[in-house]
Amino acid sequence: MPDENTLQPVPEDWQRALAIAAHPDDLEYGAASAIARWTSQGKWVGYLLVTRGEAGIDSMRPDETGPLRTQEEIAGAAVVGVDTVDFLEYADGMVEYGLPLRRDIARAIRQHKPEILITGSFHLKWPSGALNMADHRAVGIAVLDAARDAGNRWIFPELLDEGFEPWNGVRFVCVAGSPEAAHGVDVTDHIDTGVASLKEHEAYINGLGRDFDPNSFLKDNASWAGAEMGAEYAVRFEIINV
Ligand SMILES: [Zn+2]
Repeated sequence: MPDENTLQPVPEDWQRALAIAAHPDDLEYGAASAIARWTSQGKWVGYLLVTRGEAGIDSMRPDETGPLRTQEEIAGAAVVGVDTVDFLEYADGMVEYGLPLRRDIARAIRQHKPEILITGSFHLKWPSGALNMADHRAVGIAVLDAARDAGNRWIFPELLDEGFEPWNGVRFVCVAGSPEAAHGVDVTDHIDTGVASLKEHEAYINGLGRDFDPNSFLKDNASWAGAEMGAEYAVRFEIINV
């Protein structure tokens, strides 16, 4: 049995967040319920997707899948109160950690001036012990580094030429799906919105080729996390201070 109150609440004394993920649907596998809570508090949250997830459906060609998953992501974001959804156009499944990715994320941070970032796990393994995906690992590490790059005018000087002044206001990064989560967000009043957000990814879920119920998947995970912070439902995050 998990101890109650082992997860500390994620601080909420901020107004702007940018959520950055490798693929359409990554944020909807848990983080979206917390994002629904935050937008309901009047906070601004924007999404930045590194790819369009075009390699994610085995039975469908990438040139069909990319536009479809783009639309599903925009619809899923709208459900949780997110109107800004940008895409970086990296190739799904082949995202590399490196300077181009750091620069492109740093540009978005300078543009949107968030106080916190939300991203997926950069760890080698999921909490279950299974192998995490290469794209997720590359994007997660690049997000952490870009949080700092965004504040240094001497890194990526081409961003200055494009008109993006340094932004060093990112306080911390919330990492979803981390095996080292020590914080949580009570999403008891927002889990149904999070489920609705995941259900927008209908083509992807149908393409899995197996039974998958977004409602029971998200609520099972959220009830286990909730037990660790005295809530009915919660979402876990690892917080890394910048
Ligand atoms: Zn993914």
